[in-house]
Amino acid sequence: MKKFPLLISLFISLSSQAQLVRIHKLNDCSQYAIEQTKKTIEKYFGLQVLISEKNYITDGSFDGIDCLDLNESLFGYRNFQFKKSKPIDIFLTTSKITSIERQTNLGDEETTIKKVNVNGVSFGNSVYVKTLDISKLKCTLIHELSHSFGAEHCQNICIMNIQYTLKQREKIWDYVHDKPIFCKNCRITSKIK
Ligand SMILES: [Zn+2]
Ligand SMILES: [Zn+2]
Repeated sequence: MKKFPLLISLFISLSSQAQLVRIHKLNDCSQYAIEQTKKTIEKYFGLQVLISEKNYITDGSFDGIDCLDLNESLFGYRNFQFKKSKPIDIFLTTSKITSIERQTNLGDEETTIKKVNVNGVSFGNSVYVKTLDISKLKCTLIHELSHSFGAEHCQNICIMNIQYTLKQREKIWDYVHDKPIFCKNCRITSKIK
């Protein structure tokens, strides 16, 4: 019975530890993009960030990496799966990345699925981000990491509103204070600092 308090305190100290974030080059990306990614995550989420040396795709250049297939081959799942006990892996690439979009039209029974080019995609603990346009990087990272922590798309003036992330970034970024704009709900869920 004497072992119990030790086990409990060990569990508490492990579970209260901040989640680790690892940055990987998926194939090609600049050192500048890696550094900006590290800074952004440290500044806005207060998480510990490590830069990994491993390249995941080394056989030639890609255009249109299918993140669904890739995530399945790397981690064995293609859906949203988040575990607080595991690190978050961020994969950066200059290639085009694609994901799928489900569309259900009003009055339509069937859902159509189409492949779309995206700036980023989150599968819980793994996040893929295109770094080609460095001005979009901060927004995309914060949007995708917020998905990892459980935030969904919303209709408010908020970084989780996909209308604004695609076209009107000035509505979701406070340029005076250099920080993202969140609605109340998404701010709580996203775990942003
Ligand atoms: Zn999104
Ligand atoms: Zn929101």
